[in-house]
Amino acid sequence: MKILANDGLAADGVTLLENAGFSVSTENIGQEQLIDSINSSNLEILLVRSATKVRKDIIDACPNLKLIGRGGVGMDNIDVEYAREKGIKVINTPAASSQSVAELVFAHLFGLCRNLHKSNRNMPIKGNSEFAELKKKYKGVELRGKTMGIIGFGRIGQSVAKYALGLGMKIRAYDAISMSIDVQLEIHGAGDVTVRINTEDLDSVLTLSDFISLHTPAQADGSPILMASNMSQIKKGAILINASRGGIIDESDLIIALDSGQLNGVALDVFNNEPNPDNRLLVHPKISLTPHIGAATGEAQNRVATELANQIIEAFQPA
Ligand code: NAD
Repeated sequence: MKILANDGLAADGVTLLENAGFSVSTENIGQEQLIDSINSSNLEILLVRSATKVRKDIIDACPNLKLIGRGGVGMDNIDVEYAREKGIKVINTPAASSQSVAELVFAHLFGLCRNLHKSNRNMPIKGNSEFAELKKKYKGVELRGKTMGIIGFGRIGQSVAKYALGLGMKIRAYDAISMSIDVQLEIHGAGDVTVRINTEDLDSVLTLSDFISLHTPAQADGSPILMASNMSQIKKGAILINASRGGIIDESDLIIALDSGQLNGVALDVFNNEPNPDNRLLVHPKISLTPHIGAATGEAQNRVATELANQIIEAFQPA
């Protein structure tokens, strides 16, 4: 069977599939040419990450498609129900990237707390002429002892909690579903430690956290979870991080909250209008930015590729 991994597939996954007799192409075909390519090459399996969209037009025009695989969690770029109605199997790899996203959250958080985002912008320009002035400007804060608020307490939210607990932080978590979770920390040389976390209401998380990180999917109706009314509840001077989905924060309200000093800093890995984010966000001095790289580590991509390959092999192995 022929597979197109249109947004790439790590070598481990390609090898597994080829050894099982599949033919794998990792050539990136533009969205407009995708239907022609799938049909002319008689492709039966289409693998994507977040960039390629698999909407009804492709599903209708490519009757040979048997499986659509999403390397990662969110399937908002695929018309999943429609594909399944047409008999196409749709799979993803929900857990493979949790740790990588959680680590990116802390990369941003440490950076914001020590002004690395500002320092990295200013040092190339003023590092020689205004070294002493810059040194005085960048007074930071520590993470240990502070409260980490987590909105959306699923796989990634819980992984963020593990890192936060490891750093000596307190946790406040909110989820649409009330839960009581035993978070397990593996501490080298000391064995496992279990910490029970009970989710609470959104108001408590907003008002009592020093840092708030969002880990929910995009909402079905596209509405934001945080808008002006929520931002005014956040502890003054808090830091907000979104490595989840763009639409869940109202970006205009976010800029107002930053400019008024309600928020001291923001980290964004995801944006409302990807791949063309609002320029006001890109040039804002209080925002630490990355281009949707939460899952972009070698380790996560290997886990994604291996998981996808194993699911495909299992689905199409002769009985
Ligand atoms: P998950 O399904 O394990 O957890 C999501 C949690 O959010 C669930 O517990 C759910 O109940 C909760 N939730 C949903 N709507 C909510 C709301 N309105 N308020 C509060 N809680 C709500 O998913 P996950 O694996 O933790 O991933 C979370 C999101 O992270 C994904 O949906 C995806 O959009 C995003 N993600 C981003 C990257 C990246 O590259 N930045 C990579 C992977 C995943």
